[in-house]
Amino acid sequence: MFIVSEETAASLITEEAAFEAVEAVFAAMARGDAYNFPVVREAIGHADALYGFKSGFDRAGLSLGLKSGGYWPGNMEKGLTNHQSVVILFDPDTGRPRAMVGGNALTAYRTAAASSVSIRYLARKDARVLGMVGAGHQSAFQMRAAARQRQFEKVVGWNYHPDMLGRLEETARELGLPFEAVDRETLCRQADVIITITSAFEPQLMSDWIRPGTHIACMGTDTKGKMEVEPALLGRATVFTDEVAQSVSIGEAQHATGIGLITERDITEIGKVINGDHAGRAASDEITLFDGTGVGLQDLCVASSIVDLANQAGHSTEVEI
Ligand code: NAD
Repeated sequence: MFIVSEETAASLITEEAAFEAVEAVFAAMARGDAYNFPVVREAIGHADALYGFKSGFDRAGLSLGLKSGGYWPGNMEKGLTNHQSVVILFDPDTGRPRAMVGGNALTAYRTAAASSVSIRYLARKDARVLGMVGAGHQSAFQMRAAARQRQFEKVVGWNYHPDMLGRLEETARELGLPFEAVDRETLCRQADVIITITSAFEPQLMSDWIRPGTHIACMGTDTKGKMEVEPALLGRATVFTDEVAQSVSIGEAQHATGIGLITERDITEIGKVINGDHAGRAASDEITLFDGTGVGLQDLCVASSIVDLANQAGHSTEVEI
């Protein structure tokens, strides 16, 4: 079994590698070649932690395994990241463990890759202004991956905690893009592509603010009760997702489907667009919304590609189990 440390995984992962792996696995999911197993996530009654695992199998890419970990809110004081995870991969031919890979950096890259895939397939080609709502840990990864997809000329940003906006400004500078902190309505009036990546439980953006032609990737809502945009927006937009079952249960669409504004049939898996079975954006004034809920297969496919890279570079450790 190969061990790839968190440090090695973080040094080897790139936006391109994550994009390719996630694009391929979304396509495989939509063809019925890859599927996620039911997610387990529990409050363990210790250290205020939420622990769980996400698992699945990709028959096309031959990734089988699970990501296990969760959220330990007290970790920051111990100098550790609050989100902790590890990916374990198995050989699908024998069931033997193939690899264990640190999953913290991979999570950020695979999440950013999902919105990046949605931008490539759904945003207008002439999108020039990127709007960022959220300035936490994930936001920098989101901005870097998004910037690869269109010729953005400017980033506008808003965050519930204004003192965190420095992260967006710094990341934009690193990308050579001007950054402006704006209010939410201004952000919606200016941005052609909007990424929401917050832990909000209330709408941060109202439907009326969103202009025709906008692509919006809602990436923060990954749990029951969370919400980033007014549900009415999902009634106006053409809605895409990574996986419909998660979209309506723990994703942004849980609210719009819950009140009967849209149904599961109104939500298209992004893999269908990748496979050419759905046209994606049909008009330049259409609003497209990607509900990125985060599926276990994203973790497995990115981890699998990192194991290959680590083995090639001689950066993995082999142990007998
Ligand atoms: P973080 O804790 O570093 O940042 C949280 C962000 O949410 C900050 O911008 C903060 O200002 C904002 N926020 C906090 N409370 C808020 C409130 N009441 N209203 C509005 N905004 C609020 O978290 P992170 O690691 O950047 O993750 C952001 C979100 O993305 C989380 O909800 C996380 O669960 C989710 N996430 C989703 C996926 C996925 O695959 N879809 C993957 C990883 C993380």
